[in-house]
Amino acid sequence: MYERIRVKKLADSIYLLDDYGEATGYLVTGSERAAVIDTMNGIEDVHAVVRAITDLPLVLINTHGHCDHIFGNIYFEEACMNPADNTLAEEQTQRKEFLNLCRATNRKLPPFKPVNDGDTINLGNLTLKVIALPGHTTGGICLLLEEKRILFTGDSINHHLWMQLDECLPLSVFLENLKRISFVKTKADRILHGHAQDFDDISLYDELVDGVQDLITTGGKGDGIFDYAYKWMTGKCRQHPFGNGSVICYNKIK
Ligand SMILES: [Zn+2]
Ligand SMILES: [Zn+2]
Repeated sequence: MYERIRVKKLADSIYLLDDYGEATGYLVTGSERAAVIDTMNGIEDVHAVVRAITDLPLVLINTHGHCDHIFGNIYFEEACMNPADNTLAEEQTQRKEFLNLCRATNRKLPPFKPVNDGDTINLGNLTLKVIALPGHTTGGICLLLEEKRILFTGDSINHHLWMQLDECLPLSVFLENLKRISFVKTKADRILHGHAQDFDDISLYDELVDGVQDLITTGGKGDGIFDYAYKWMTGKCRQHPFGNGSVICYNKIK
């Protein structure tokens, strides 16, 4: 029925929504409400995909304002996002591909409802706690599913972290923000990020902290291993290895 979106049930109440290997969203079904976390590229109707799984009232939360997470918002009536990413989202939705998508589907972006650090989203028997993590974007958030000890991290913690974009904060600021949320290690066992195919262990958090620290300290030249060039969609940058085959993409060390 769908050519792009594939649903994978990861655990009781947790579904991974894979948009053609390009972006990942999630559905968490509580006893009273269900949460959709990110909506991917919007080419296919992610709301209909979700509705085939649950008829619970929905709350949609964006982990941040990038196109591959918010474009699918057009299929929903309301979306929650950290207001610090509103301007970024506005810029992203001026793109030609998004305007074409809106025209083709006769839909538009729904209004954003603010969520902030410390907010709690109650799904009945399950709770999502909003944890701000500015870095990849200013308004980036993580969501802690407390009862299941799972941390949804969007693009803020992953194996291929993009810190080379204009909207990314300086690495030193990101490092401070990462350290500020070190309590997540005691609250979560596993991570689900915005481009994942399955769970990651929470140890990815420590690996990333060490990786960012190492990048700042060594200027990308640690242990005699020089960072290597990386070409991405619209530019060139460098990547710094960390952990087990992971990289941080960056331009200059700020
Ligand atoms: Zn992103
Ligand atoms: Zn992304």
